[in-house]
Amino acid sequence: MMLVHVFVEHPILHLDHTFTYLCGDDTIQKGVRVQVPFGNTSIIGFVEKVEIATPEAISSFSYPLKEVESILDQEPLLNEELFELADWMAKTYIAPRISCFQCMLPAKLKPSSTHGSIKMEAYVRVVHEVKMPLTKKQLLAYETLKEHDKMLRSIYYQQFKSPGKKLIELGLVEVFELPATAALEEETIEAEKELTKDQKNAMQRILGTTKSISLLHGVTGSGKTEVFLQLSRQILNQGKQVVVLVPEISLTPQMVQRVKSRFGKRVAIYHSALNNQEKYEQYQLVKNHEVNIVVGTRSAVFMPFDHLGLIIIDEEHDTSYKQDSKPQYHCRDVAIWRSKYHHAKLVLASATPSLESYARAYKGNYELITMPHRINENFPKVTLVEMKKAVANKESYMLSNILLDGIYQRLQKKEQVILLLNRRGYTPILRCISCGHVQMCPHCDVAMSFHKEEQLLKCHTCGCSMPVPTHCPECGQASWTYLGLGTQKLEEFVQIKFPNAKILRMDADTTGKKHSHEQILKAFGEKQADILLGTQMIAKGLDFENVTLVGIVNGDAMLNRSDYRSTEMTYDLLEQASGRSGRGDKPGEVIIQAYDPSHYAIQCAAHHDYLSFFKNEMQFRHLAGYPPYRYLVSFIFSHKKEDVVKHDVAIAMSILKMKENCKVLGPASLQKRKDEYRMRILIKGKDDILLNHYAREVYQKFLQVKAKSRLDIDVSPIVME
Ligand code: ADP
Ligand code: ZN
Repeated sequence: MMLVHVFVEHPILHLDHTFTYLCGDDTIQKGVRVQVPFGNTSIIGFVEKVEIATPEAISSFSYPLKEVESILDQEPLLNEELFELADWMAKTYIAPRISCFQCMLPAKLKPSSTHGSIKMEAYVRVVHEVKMPLTKKQLLAYETLKEHDKMLRSIYYQQFKSPGKKLIELGLVEVFELPATAALEEETIEAEKELTKDQKNAMQRILGTTKSISLLHGVTGSGKTEVFLQLSRQILNQGKQVVVLVPEISLTPQMVQRVKSRFGKRVAIYHSALNNQEKYEQYQLVKNHEVNIVVGTRSAVFMPFDHLGLIIIDEEHDTSYKQDSKPQYHCRDVAIWRSKYHHAKLVLASATPSLESYARAYKGNYELITMPHRINENFPKVTLVEMKKAVANKESYMLSNILLDGIYQRLQKKEQVILLLNRRGYTPILRCISCGHVQMCPHCDVAMSFHKEEQLLKCHTCGCSMPVPTHCPECGQASWTYLGLGTQKLEEFVQIKFPNAKILRMDADTTGKKHSHEQILKAFGEKQADILLGTQMIAKGLDFENVTLVGIVNGDAMLNRSDYRSTEMTYDLLEQASGRSGRGDKPGEVIIQAYDPSHYAIQCAAHHDYLSFFKNEMQFRHLAGYPPYRYLVSFIFSHKKEDVVKHDVAIAMSILKMKENCKVLGPASLQKRKDEYRMRILIKGKDDILLNHYAREVYQKFLQVKAKSRLDIDVSPIVME
């Protein structure tokens, strides 16, 4: 008899400790899932520890132990490393351990019972020596199968037909099942490129440095991807595994294609647009050592590697590397942890590194490598347009004459244009002309956006929608005016100005369906359209050689946000978007429209001057006491009742106010969201471990008093509202 300690997930109770069960099967291992009785139901849990059930051990429990109902996995899902990682994550991000296990595993293997079963496939294998005489054809089938170990039954039948079936009837061959795995396709292999001086230097420095982390600061188009590919080749040749992480799904198809065309079938792909079965299959490919290189988004950092040699994080500054639900981990931190564990190399790469990473590299903690030249030596020319003047000049507030003219020129030359506008929908705001009433979301404190194609008002926060009211609910007049500019309206305007141009729009509304990202980008890549217009989704990583103009419609819109990172995000967006222009042989241009083009974020982006931006912004962060000079932890409390939120906020404040070396900001009321009142407390300090202790104390107090509101603790938040 064994004693097993099991983590279970409970939808209501916040459980962060194990429950103990008895198990009659002595072979049970740490890391498998089990079905266990819990209260008067039965749930799935995760075995954290196994020990022999001595009579003393059993009697040390004051209650009779229940028995495990069944063991769900034959072998552990998580190895020792991933257990330790979960432990570290739970501590670092103040999250229940079970939530950390959950986010590491593909849905089908998650310790919860809601996901569908795993698809199985039938295989055949030889089980007995031949003792009876066989026909020639039977013998051929027998020998072939024996050589192959195992074979998919469908292929076996196809190849050997009735002689093959006969062998099964004779009991020489048996049918058995294995979980379905992805079919590995063959692809043509592209040759390696001859490296430039910069690229060679980068390779040598990354491989030669004694530092485990390198920051590759390479301008857009400097050939970072080729460095990734050749580094990967070297590490694979050493018999180790490689993971290439990319932000968000919009980027993946291009990177996947480039990696696949180099490494052929040995690549696993892992991102959020895969369905559960596909994710499971890709996961198994890695677990079974069928592939050694993975390209994926954030969650691919948890792949079950056992001899990892290299982690690459492309566009390391991207905010999609931070998970916004529990556990709110940062992929970069997890990658740092895993690279230490495996003594693997970690390469952080970006044209616009995060201030945190650059500051560490600047100080010498990371190997800092710069690739300042574009492969084609051809930086786009940047033109700034001051919109105040353009509007005073009676030009359109959407597109200035300079930008209109630029588009016209490219269309004439059959070159392509990208237009970036950071706001989807038609017009953001619907306002009553007579009383000034703005139509707000009934569940959130935000104005609803008008979507013309569907004739609906939508809330971009909670997703709810409603028809446009015929009359103003405040004053009863039927006189709406539409203010502001969204991608739909811009598309309409551009189409009117250029009736013959083919336009593709890419935003959250046009990319809801699976593969729609890929389809839009593919169509644009194949020159089926002249203009690609969209939100920041199109600003990143894309490489289209025929694009010679990038127009940024509202370059400083993001500067107006209250977030301490808004300047950094503005710089990143401008620099990244400019990077899409002139990637081929033809010279590129970028036109940035802004109301205040003198701002340093815009000026530095216009001159592609990251270092000046870094120094300027670091000064600001230093003065204001923000990261990377200080650490932050944010606590958000939410509940349908305002009183409950206030009550719980007061509990947290009473703890935090007493703490030393910790500045408390707030509580601040946030916008209501999905009918919930929300308040935030922010703490700031130089010592991250100390802040972590304080946060944990608040968390524990919450469990102890069984507080009613939801508490979301975000350690080192990167996006604030
Ligand atoms: P980055 O990732 O830094 O933005 P890319 O890796 O996309 O840059 O490279 C930009 C372009 O230059 C790509 O079209 C790529 O194929 C090409 N390229 C990269 N390295 C070389 C090389 N050594 N020789 C020739 N072309 C190269
Ligand atoms: Zn809403």
